[in-house]
Amino acid sequence: MQTIDRSTVWPYDEHGEPEKFFYSRYDHPTGVAAETELGRLEGGDALLYASGMGAVTATILAFAKVGTTVAIAAGCYFGTSKLLGLLAPWGIDYVEFDQTGAPPEADIVWVEAPANPVLTMPNWEALKAHPGLVICDATVATPVYLRALDEGADVVVHSATKFLTGHHDALLGATVSRDAHSARLREIRGNTGITASPDAAGSLLQGLETLDVRMRRHTETAAEIARRLGEHPAVQTVRYPGFSGLLSFDVADPRAVETSTDLILNATSLGGVRSSMESRARWEGGRIPAGLLRLSVGLEDVDAIWADLDQALQSRP
Ligand code: PLP
Repeated sequence: MQTIDRSTVWPYDEHGEPEKFFYSRYDHPTGVAAETELGRLEGGDALLYASGMGAVTATILAFAKVGTTVAIAAGCYFGTSKLLGLLAPWGIDYVEFDQTGAPPEADIVWVEAPANPVLTMPNWEALKAHPGLVICDATVATPVYLRALDEGADVVVHSATKFLTGHHDALLGATVSRDAHSARLREIRGNTGITASPDAAGSLLQGLETLDVRMRRHTETAAEIARRLGEHPAVQTVRYPGFSGLLSFDVADPRAVETSTDLILNATSLGGVRSSMESRARWEGGRIPAGLLRLSVGLEDVDAIWADLDQALQSRP
């Protein structure tokens, strides 16, 4: 059992020198314990941040400068492209591209494995041939299904708020990288103060203990739900990459369906033990299909999830 040390300061040694822990903005014991475990799973050095967007922000600040172009996967997490748009006054440009093919010329290529909510996967062969820095947001895959550093990514980004912690009780982000990239990210994290709290790091330590078993159950149930949705007359396209707990599908009236479920929470976010679903057009506008519902399949019984979905879809032509 990990006891959470919430200290912000630790005394210097007898010579007045800082020891490993001296001020919690740089490092704290629970953070380091969780980073060690996540780093082991991903095969690199993990660093934790105050949120997934904190990890995204630190990564962009670490590797982009005035004049940098970022090529970002179309249909990836809305918040990441929104942030890149906000950074235009800092001289950072971005272009969207279809990540199933080759990226355009760019200093940084940002892919998502799989993209939330369109659920495409990056083309690793094409990425290997690209000279730019490759950053992979692997929030939905988790290290259970992907070790992106081994595929050729330079930096892996996670919203650990999702599957990694798994219980909708911690806001947390992570990067995983190696060597000079890790040193640069650590410098940016400590000096911007986008640091994770000890409590959130404690949730990650706990979440990682059950990650493998949760992810396998998420996959088993989501695959079956995707199959049944594919046969439902009220459902148009179904998108599911074949692993993890996230899928999306299109219906004529997404608001009516999302507000008709009982078991499935009508809420944003994903990756929790409870299923949740929402129409993404409320956030993303015309960037995604208007009828798209994003469903995060939880750990409930598959037939209970299906019964809830089916009754919500029943009355909706
Ligand atoms: N990356 C992906 C793929 C996400 O789905 C999210 C949030 O939904 C984020 C990053 C941002 O994470 P957070 O909400 O923890 O800041």
